[in-house]
Amino acid sequence: MNLTLSPSHNMLPLTLDGSTGEGGGQILRTGLALSMVTGRPLHITRIRAGRPKPGLMRQHLACVQAAAAVCGGQADGAELNSQALQFTPGTVRGGDYRFQIATAGSCLLVLQTVLPALMLADGESRVQLLGGTHNPMAPPFDFLERAFAPLVRRLGVGLELQLLRRGFFPAGGGELVAHITPPLSTAQPLAPVDVMERGPLQNAWCEAVAPGLARSIVPRELETLGQRMGWTCEAGQLRQPPTRQNEGPGNALIATLEHAHITEVFCQLGERSLSAEQVAKRLANEVHAYQRSQGALGPHLADQWMLPLALAVWRSGRAASYTCTEATPHTQTNAQTIALGLPVQVQITPVERALRVEVLPHG
Ligand code: ATP
Repeated sequence: MNLTLSPSHNMLPLTLDGSTGEGGGQILRTGLALSMVTGRPLHITRIRAGRPKPGLMRQHLACVQAAAAVCGGQADGAELNSQALQFTPGTVRGGDYRFQIATAGSCLLVLQTVLPALMLADGESRVQLLGGTHNPMAPPFDFLERAFAPLVRRLGVGLELQLLRRGFFPAGGGELVAHITPPLSTAQPLAPVDVMERGPLQNAWCEAVAPGLARSIVPRELETLGQRMGWTCEAGQLRQPPTRQNEGPGNALIATLEHAHITEVFCQLGERSLSAEQVAKRLANEVHAYQRSQGALGPHLADQWMLPLALAVWRSGRAASYTCTEATPHTQTNAQTIALGLPVQVQITPVERALRVEVLPHG
C-alpha cells in the first residue's frame, strides 16, 4: 500500500482512551482502521470501559485479528477481557480473506474494521465473513448493502456485498462476501462527496423474515407496520423475502426508504420478550423519527459514514459535509477519535431540523 501521511501529521503512536465518550467497541474499531491507513501504531487503554463487561469480547478480538491479518500487523494484549492493546500495523495487502467470528459475533462490524484499509490497498480484495449478519446493536447486512455501500461507491471505491445466508444471534451461522476494489490508480485520490439533502422519496418498503420461528410472526409484524406507515401488500410495500435453508432461528423487520440522493435502512430484531406487534411499533417509531427530521443520514449511518468520508478528505485535501438527523454518542465519539488519528477536523452544527457534519482538512 502506498499510503503516506501528509507532512503536517506525525507518525507518533495513536493513543486512545477507550473510555472516552461512548466508551464501547467502536473506539477500538475506528482506532484499528486509523492505525492501518496511516501506519501509526495504536495504543489503546481502558477498552470498552463504558460497558458492564469491559475489555475485549470475542467480537472485538475478531476485529483485532482481522486487522492484523489484512496488514500483517502485530497485536500485544489481543486476549479475551484485555483492556489494553498495542497494535503495530504492517503493509495493507489486498487479497482473499476469510474471517469466522465465534459466538455469532457480527460479520458487519469486522468488515467495518478492515474496509477503510482495504479500500486504499494495493489491489482488490474478496472478504468472506462467517458469523452473525443480523445482530443486536450492530449494522444488519441490508443496511450495509443498501445504505452504506452506495455512499462508499460514490467515493470511487468498488464495494459489492453478497449475502449467502443470514445468521442471527445467538446461533450465528450466517455468511457474506464483500468485494472491495480500491480507486483505479493511487494518483486518483478518493473523491469526497457532500450529502446535504435526501431528495424526493422514490420508494419505501418493509421486509420481514423469521426463519425457524412461528409462522404467525411475519404477517403480524407486517400488518402492524402497514397500519402505522400506511403501507400495503398490494402496493408492494410489505414483503416477505425468501429465507434459505439452515437459516435461523431469528427475526428481522427491515424498512428501506429510497430517496433520490440517499437510501436509508432501519432494522428491528425480534426478541423473546417482545411481541411481533411491539417489534413493528419500534420500527415504525424509528422511521417516523427519520421522517420528522430533514437530515439526509439517519443516526447509524451518520456515525459510520464519517470515517470513509474523512479518509477521502484527508487524501484529497478537500472538505466535505453531510446532514444527519441527530448526533448520537457514537457519532460524537467517532468525530473525536477520527480527529486524533487523521489531520482533519470534524464540526457538527445545527441547521434547520437537522445537523450538519463538516469534515475539513487541517491547514
Ligand atoms: P459494545 O457496545 O458492546 O462495545 P460494539 O462493539 O458492538 O459493542 P458499539 O461501539 O456500540 O459496538 O458500536 C455499534 C455500531 O453498530 C455503531 O456503529 C452503530 O451505529 C451500529 N449499529 C447499531 N445498530 C444499528 C442498526 N440498527 N443499523 C445500523 N447500524 C447499527
